[in-house]
Amino acid sequence: MITARVIESYGTHGVVAYDGASYACHWRRGTGRPVCGDLIELHGSPGSEAAVVERILERRSVFKRANRNREPQIIAANVEQAVIVIAPEPPPSAYAVDRYLLAAGVLGLAPLLVCNKADLANSGVIVDPARYRAFALACHETIARPASPGYGTGIEALGRVLRGKVSILVGQSGVGKSSLLNALLPGRAVLTTELSAATGKGRHTTTSARWYALPGQGAVIDSPGVWEYGLWRMPAADIQRGFPEFATVPHCRFRDCRHLDEPGCAVAAAAAAGEIHPERHAAYRQIMRTCELK
Ligand code: GDP
Ligand code: ZN
Repeated sequence: MITARVIESYGTHGVVAYDGASYACHWRRGTGRPVCGDLIELHGSPGSEAAVVERILERRSVFKRANRNREPQIIAANVEQAVIVIAPEPPPSAYAVDRYLLAAGVLGLAPLLVCNKADLANSGVIVDPARYRAFALACHETIARPASPGYGTGIEALGRVLRGKVSILVGQSGVGKSSLLNALLPGRAVLTTELSAATGKGRHTTTSARWYALPGQGAVIDSPGVWEYGLWRMPAADIQRGFPEFATVPHCRFRDCRHLDEPGCAVAAAAAAGEIHPERHAAYRQIMRTCELK
């Protein structure tokens, strides 16, 4: 019996890494569907037709997003950090960072913000640091396109916070996640070719998350770009975990205030007074409206 890491999963099959090499592998009905980052026990030599997945080891954490029906889907397992990548181009959709921060909070992942494309003229205006003060977010400005002046800016510093940890890169398509990976892991292209040979699939048809081991320990998971990161339905208490600054205001009139339109709501008052960022309260209302599980 060996323990292998799932690098990529396509539903019925995927790619696993064991002892520095990667192998195609079929999943087995009955053991559950492994996702990127899972550790699985394999019986038989990896890569052989006879290799059988015995079980998926218990997941220490997961990264999820919602499908169209707002049901949670697990994208990756055993993740420690969520690296939220934004850029001036394409500009983040409304409340995208609020949604990622909420997901990271509920899933127990440490959030990190990367503002890529710092070479573009309007790069300073994408986030208002005051809005996310409650998170004490480390914010990394990076330039990941080799042709850009200042290429490599912020990459070493980002590499240092990724070292030894398992991080998932999230953010909409086009913000530069692949470029960041290339800058962080110059040897990545080799791995890409190997994996394509193993699965018969090209990089461009890939819609699943993929695991890239870092030298030494740790890894970076590239997640499929989505225009809109959707949250799954969850109880109000979970949604409120994404807004830690709401807990710092004095009490609302009603003990079970949901901070929507209740009279005497201290959160709404603080937002009106600018003590809570008004857009954070707006983000909260929008998420409650669309995602609250009652
Ligand atoms: P992904 O979809 O998030 O993986 O984004 P890509 O890495 O494919 O990048 C999308 C586009 O943005 C490409 O044309 C990149 O060359 C460009 N890009 C990536 N990083 C930077 C950067 O730091 N500055 C600028 N100006 N362009 C960048
Ligand atoms: Zn309230």
